[in-house]
Amino acid sequence: MKIKTAEFIISNSDVSRCPDSSLPEYAFIGRSNVGKSSLINMLTGRKSLAKISGRPGKTQLINHFLINNEWHLVDLPGYGYARVSKSIKKTFQKFITAYFEQRKQMICAFVLVDCRHEPQPIDLEFMQWMGEHGIPFCIIFTKADKLKPKALERNIEAYKDKLLETWTEIPQYFITSSANNLGQEEVLEFIDSINQQFIRE
Ligand code: GDP
Repeated sequence: MKIKTAEFIISNSDVSRCPDSSLPEYAFIGRSNVGKSSLINMLTGRKSLAKISGRPGKTQLINHFLINNEWHLVDLPGYGYARVSKSIKKTFQKFITAYFEQRKQMICAFVLVDCRHEPQPIDLEFMQWMGEHGIPFCIIFTKADKLKPKALERNIEAYKDKLLETWTEIPQYFITSSANNLGQEEVLEFIDSINQQFIRE
């Protein structure tokens, strides 16, 4: 898929104020600093569509972007930032769960995971919650350029082993780097293949 247009539509903290549109949408979520903004910019080929976070945990909003007038890319807040207070964390959880439970246009969520790190409980718990609520998701491993090929392979295998402790099947996953565009085509093709089904229906 070629990105012809990518425009910011709206930011908000209330799922009921998300765009009134039936376009398919794809959500990006992960721990603060995982590389989400960089990935969104890399995927869309725009240098600063999503803000590369100056201060992690600062953007606590649901951000909608319209891509090719065809689908919405949704940038969700980064979770698990230690320095936000417990009450902010609770509010955050509430509106994220509300988003996933209520937003019927949400076709697939991409859960971002830094390929350098061991599986983190917060990510695993989040995926567990998604599974229990029947919300489709894929995993995107970020920052692949930061590891040598062997180490990358080892970490991905370790992650898969960890997932197999609770899942019978490994969710679809992508390996990406915003530094060298690795995975760009694969993720966009994946989105495009789903969008094409929508258009045909
Ligand atoms: P966010 O908080 O998840 O939106 O993360 P950002 O996109 O702001 O990235 C956090 C930091 O990681 C920034 O310093 C980025 O430059 C860096 N970063 C993000 N993605 C990559 C990547 O693929 N490769 C490398 N080497 N650095 C990255």
